[in-house]
Amino acid sequence: KPWTLGLTGGIGSGKSAVAEQFVALGVDLVDSDQAARWVVEPGRPALAAIAQHFGEQVLNPDGHLNRSALREQIFTNPAERRWLENLLHPLIAAEVAQFLANAKSPYAIMVSPLLIESGQYKLAQRVLVIDVPEHVQIERTMRRDQLSAEQVQAILAAQATREERLRHADDVLSNDRELTWMKNEVERLHAFYLTLNGGQP
Ligand code: ATP
Repeated sequence: KPWTLGLTGGIGSGKSAVAEQFVALGVDLVDSDQAARWVVEPGRPALAAIAQHFGEQVLNPDGHLNRSALREQIFTNPAERRWLENLLHPLIAAEVAQFLANAKSPYAIMVSPLLIESGQYKLAQRVLVIDVPEHVQIERTMRRDQLSAEQVQAILAAQATREERLRHADDVLSNDRELTWMKNEVERLHAFYLTLNGGQP
């Protein structure tokens, strides 16, 4: 059975860009944001439970989840937010676990922006942190999402600090240089990971 590498980093650190490089090298990868979308697809039990709890107004006419309507319902209501998290988190974890159990590459990657905050890192034998200084996170996210510095700062404040993430890191990829350098780092890490047994040297 493949071992699991947890991949995380703050907003705009380059998780998706790094993940793409590992996939290009043939590594099976599951993204917890993706899994969070799968569990609420039409026909899945979680969507029916959400519609029953919050009312049909959280559904689009085509039966898909209306994310902004749902966000509005939980935005100012911590109890409702907790209800939703209690419903979804175990389902997302099960989805991720199932993907990892079926992975075919020598190791598989679990990407999560909240790997540390959610405790998901405990499912991984090893943790790779994508690390950049805050000012780089802010610049790249502002450019990518057309946000103000203040908006990005607010998101940063809700995530683990750079220090907290680094405390959980087995490996660190510093992604504050050009993309070709990052790709080289991924190749180097991949070669190293292929030498490991269960994530250990
Ligand atoms: P989020 O947590 O918001 O999903 P992320 O960690 O997945 O972010 P990416 O979307 O991969 O981050 O990267 C953020 C932005 O920075 C993207 O526009 C990406 O193309 C760019 N980027 C990533 N790595 C580099 C690099 N080494 N040099 C320049 N730009 C980069």
